[in-house]
Amino acid sequence: MSNLPHGVIATYREFLPVTADTPIVSLHEGRTPLIAARQLGKTFSPSISVYFKCEGFNPTGSFKDRGMCLAISKALEKKARAVICASTGNTSASASAYGARVGLPVCVVIPEGQIAMGKLAQAVIHGAKVLQIKGNFDVALSIVKEIAVTQSLEIVNSINPFRIEGQKTAAFEVCDVLGTVPTYHFLPVGNAGNITAYWKGYREYKEAKRISALPKMMGFQAAGAAPIVLGRVVNNPETVASAIRIGNPSSWKTAENVVAESAGTIDMVTDDEILGAYTMLAEQEGIFCEPASAASVAGLLKMAHAGMFQANDTVVCTLTGHGLKDVDRAMAVTSRPTTCVSAEDVAEAIKRWL
Ligand SMILES: *Cc1c(COP(=O)(O)O)cnc(C)c1O
Repeated sequence: MSNLPHGVIATYREFLPVTADTPIVSLHEGRTPLIAARQLGKTFSPSISVYFKCEGFNPTGSFKDRGMCLAISKALEKKARAVICASTGNTSASASAYGARVGLPVCVVIPEGQIAMGKLAQAVIHGAKVLQIKGNFDVALSIVKEIAVTQSLEIVNSINPFRIEGQKTAAFEVCDVLGTVPTYHFLPVGNAGNITAYWKGYREYKEAKRISALPKMMGFQAAGAAPIVLGRVVNNPETVASAIRIGNPSSWKTAENVVAESAGTIDMVTDDEILGAYTMLAEQEGIFCEPASAASVAGLLKMAHAGMFQANDTVVCTLTGHGLKDVDRAMAVTSRPTTCVSAEDVAEAIKRWL
């Protein structure tokens, strides 16, 4: 084994609230690829440099692992008897994996029928207690908040400050790999923990003099679940991007501060725009992310059409989760059905196709 540190806690220890007494859990999260766009940005006028921070490469397939490794480590340090979370899917997948790793019981409360099947399978196979409720994520979270107190369980949603601390390491990695800071950082916004975390990371790196400027933070909600944009709670949030189907975000106020401090924005994109970006990424960039992740790129396209960019701008889009989590969606959006042919007709079918 090499002596390189594994996982975000070992790598960025000096920036994180751990001590010699913290039992560190890691599944080698972090160090996800920052992939330069091959096409996107080149056709904009003026053209710009675009990079994708591919968080689907984390151990459970989403950025949630960065914060979960710290949240579970701190729960262990505190000798918690179990952890609990509400989830649109990825938090439960991540909590279940890290809990299994250290033998800490995990309970997940999720909206029935609204979780992508891959994410549900992860919670199930890792052995979590899965409670499906009739009600959306916002309802699930309010129940979890109450139960955590009455049953003295550790919450590992992003209201747990250790989640934000761990997730800020994604901003460190972007700067370390780019060698500088991007002009803009685009990302999807659900509960608004991640936009809060990135901004904290960028600010701390600037204070530590690792970077000399800060990016403008550009958050995108789905039009049917856009409470921050509309300025009011959305009681029945609706969008194909199930990971950001949230009507009353926990980090609402912080997200507004991030936008004000960074001179960025929080805006919304329609489901059509999200699915357009989702298929474009798969077909033209070779990257399969989940629908919610594509909200960042849909936002980038919207801003490009509005003429926001200047020559030499550098943009990073976070692709928050892996496309394989939700294969039903991929099969539903494609306009190209698969074809069944008999074995002897394959050659002929290829001739006709080319
Ligand atoms: C959790 C999640 C989001 C939303 O992140 P917030 O921190 O809740 O704003 C976006 N995309 C994916 C894939 C997620 O799992």
